[in-house]
Amino acid sequence: MNIDHELGSRLTYGLKKDEPMSKHTSWMVGGPADYFLQPADLDELITIVSYSDRHKLPLYVLGNGTNLLVLDGGIRGLVIHIGSAFNYLKSDQYSLTAGAGISMTGLAKSAAAAGLTGLEFAIGIPGSLGGALIMNAGAFGGYIGEKVRLVKVVNYFGQVITLPRKEIHFGYRDSNLTGKGIIFEATLALEQAEQAIIAKKMEELSAERRKRHPKLPSAGSVFRNLPGKPAGKIIEEAGAKGLRTGGAEVSTEHANFIVNNGDATASDILNLIKTVRQLVKDKFNLELHPEVRIIGEEI
Ligand SMILES: Cc1cc2nc3c(=O)[nH]c(=O)nc-3n(C[C@H](O)[C@H](O)[C@H](O)COP(=O)(O)OP(=O)(O)OC[C@H]3O[C@@H](n4cnc5c(N)ncnc54)[C@H](O)[C@@H]3O)c2cc1C
Repeated sequence: MNIDHELGSRLTYGLKKDEPMSKHTSWMVGGPADYFLQPADLDELITIVSYSDRHKLPLYVLGNGTNLLVLDGGIRGLVIHIGSAFNYLKSDQYSLTAGAGISMTGLAKSAAAAGLTGLEFAIGIPGSLGGALIMNAGAFGGYIGEKVRLVKVVNYFGQVITLPRKEIHFGYRDSNLTGKGIIFEATLALEQAEQAIIAKKMEELSAERRKRHPKLPSAGSVFRNLPGKPAGKIIEEAGAKGLRTGGAEVSTEHANFIVNNGDATASDILNLIKTVRQLVKDKFNLELHPEVRIIGEEI
């Protein structure tokens, strides 16, 4: 197998070897991906997926890397980054069709510009639409799943599949889209409203986010909330705010965020996650479960 010749040479942006994932995650940590590829269009995406299927190479999809802890040993196989080529959008009176690479903030702003309401909650969520659909991202009582009309994926055999709403299930920060393939496009059902009202709502939510969220590199909320009880509150009550491991720290502003103080490794963050879980278990006999996805290999 000569991957450079057989695959890299056929792609507009080529293929990168041993690409540090710290360059592609909001925590700014993570070891190298064996092969890192960014398809320039749908045909190139299909080419990459078909190649990985033929050669039985593991494949991992990366959106904006804002919900991922990539371990320091990195990722074996191919990492496909769904990026700027899939940053397109078209709208009509009641819906919006967008590429999976568009950011949630870009999506919210475009909907507002088109006079469409329903995505105000997405302003400030730093993920891509693809990642948001997988995670059923949400905020301020809204979530992406409730807007979905259909999702298009390239499955792991390289075929384009359209998934209608009735085949997709969305739960709390979860959906059954995981494992279905690489999401490249979705259509969302929205409603019309006055642009000024939408803009005002988005400005309020942005201000609220600026107030609540730490500025240092993070992956947003680390743990899932427990029924009726926000994880941040439990962690704070356990006395974990400000706890440190190496360069990782439980944020003093928001206890469910772990921030990178500048020189954290993935192993620092992972150890701090384990420490917080143990502390909460010991104090309250409660089990916290990570919302962030932990992938790759330890060193
Ligand atoms: C400061 C900050 C604030 C945040 N606030 C919120 C918030 O308010 N609400 C919220 O829900 N989340 C929040 N998050 C978390 C994060 O932004 C969301 O989970 C987001 O949906 C992840 O999108 P992503 O593109 O970064 O996905 P990634 O982190 O790149 O990937 C997440 C998962 O989705 C998969 N995936 C990504 N793209 C695709 C694709 N095209 N096809 C198939 N699978 C794919 C990946 O394989 C991975 O399993 C926040 C994060 C940060 C850093």
